[in-house]
Amino acid sequence: MKINRRSFIGSAAAGVGVMSAPMVMGAAHGTPNVVVIGGGAGGATAARYIARDGGDQVNVTLIEPTRTYYTCFFSNLYIGGFRTMESLGHSYGTLASEYGINVVHDWAVGVDRDAKTVALAGGGSVPYDKLILSPGIDFVDGAVPGWDVSAQNAMPHAYKAGSQTELLKAQVMSMREGGTYCMVAPPNPYRCPPGPYERVSMVAHQLKQTNPTAKILIVDPKEGFSKQGLFEQGWERHYSGMIERIGPDFGGANVEVDPAAMTVTIDGVVENVDVCNVIPAQRAGKIAHDAGVTDGNWAPVEAFALTSKMDPAIHVLGDSAAQGDMPKSGFSANSQAKVCANAVVGELTGSRVFPARFSNTCWSLIDTEDGVKVGAAYEPTEEKIASTGGFVSQTDETAEVRAQTYQESLGWYDAIVSDMFG
Ligand SMILES: Cc1cc2nc3c(=O)[nH]c(=O)nc-3n(C[C@H](O)[C@H](O)[C@H](O)COP(=O)(O)OP(=O)(O)OC[C@H]3O[C@@H](n4cnc5c(N)ncnc54)[C@H](O)[C@@H]3O)c2cc1C
Repeated sequence: MKINRRSFIGSAAAGVGVMSAPMVMGAAHGTPNVVVIGGGAGGATAARYIARDGGDQVNVTLIEPTRTYYTCFFSNLYIGGFRTMESLGHSYGTLASEYGINVVHDWAVGVDRDAKTVALAGGGSVPYDKLILSPGIDFVDGAVPGWDVSAQNAMPHAYKAGSQTELLKAQVMSMREGGTYCMVAPPNPYRCPPGPYERVSMVAHQLKQTNPTAKILIVDPKEGFSKQGLFEQGWERHYSGMIERIGPDFGGANVEVDPAAMTVTIDGVVENVDVCNVIPAQRAGKIAHDAGVTDGNWAPVEAFALTSKMDPAIHVLGDSAAQGDMPKSGFSANSQAKVCANAVVGELTGSRVFPARFSNTCWSLIDTEDGVKVGAAYEPTEEKIASTGGFVSQTDETAEVRAQTYQESLGWYDAIVSDMFG
């Protein structure tokens, strides 16, 4: 990192935590402006809590291009036939009407950190005293040879929910009898560690009913994956003989695709496939790179308030942040957003700042009523957000426990979307 005044202040801020509220920013020029880029799990939550707790002492602007946010969480359940797409869509109406948030439906295309303004694609710029970035992920160019976003109609990623998810499901449903669905799984770290494997479970659930001789092939660059024992046991129990995984020992890290020919080449061996779900390597959303607050991949932040290590006026939440031990999940982003919101409101208004505590649980559905989970609690340290202990479902659990875990996940979904959107 280049040492300049800004990065020096950033590193100093990283050490002190946010227990006290030392100054009221923006007081010199009236009500301070908080601008949030990205209205997803991190950004919508942060905007709502800052508007709610800051009241008329803070102006909040939320910049988000889409009018309906489709949650990635539970999008695999849509593929499995357990949810409708409508049930995953949420609007920003309540954030605007009940919380007084200035919701701007546009892309942020630049951040001027000296002038403290955000440029919009539609023209104009928005000034900020505090900027919160939660733009999610983008894909690493060239991560899977043969694939780029121009190939996403032939070989969907479905790793940003909405039309991509609908396309992938349509392809699965119209696959020829006995055909092959191939998933090219991503390397670590990526959004939702169990997500690809829950997806395979949900695709298998569909195919078992509509196309039982079909095959699922996972090409995976990783040695192991989240909840592996639970998934593999579930696949054997519910979808025996249907799913094959090729790990790095057998060429899972040496893959290229040809979207025009619908082939996947694994360690030099060409396979014809019918559906190919390419989930490439990931990095922080583009605007975080444009703002100059990433290390080239992710945005390093301190652990007490998710403050950028490169600029104390900027916080980075959710998938884009390099924060330590928390997985990149909606639950994590929501948890980080509440800690950040409390610190930001404290700094801007002098209100009380509580000690930071974080938590996460990732639920996955393997088959009807067969839900599993993994989770942990976290605390900030000088170095990172650190795990203080976790839990995971067991392979010998009863069907009742699994059904209960699935019911818990339904309750969690309702709670998080109401925490995000009011
Ligand atoms: C298949 C799948 C299943 C998942 N299941 C779960 C689960 O069960 N539980 C769980 O906790 N998590 C789950 N996740 C992960 C979860 O969806 C993400 O970790 C979470 O959404 C991250 O929140 P975020 O705020 O960082 O990004 P997002 O929620 O993606 O929000 C980013 C927002 O920023 C906007 N944006 C991007 N760039 C700009 C810009 N330049 N200007 C303005 N706006 C911009 C985007 O439009 C988007 O709305 C799953 C993910 C996938 C793909």
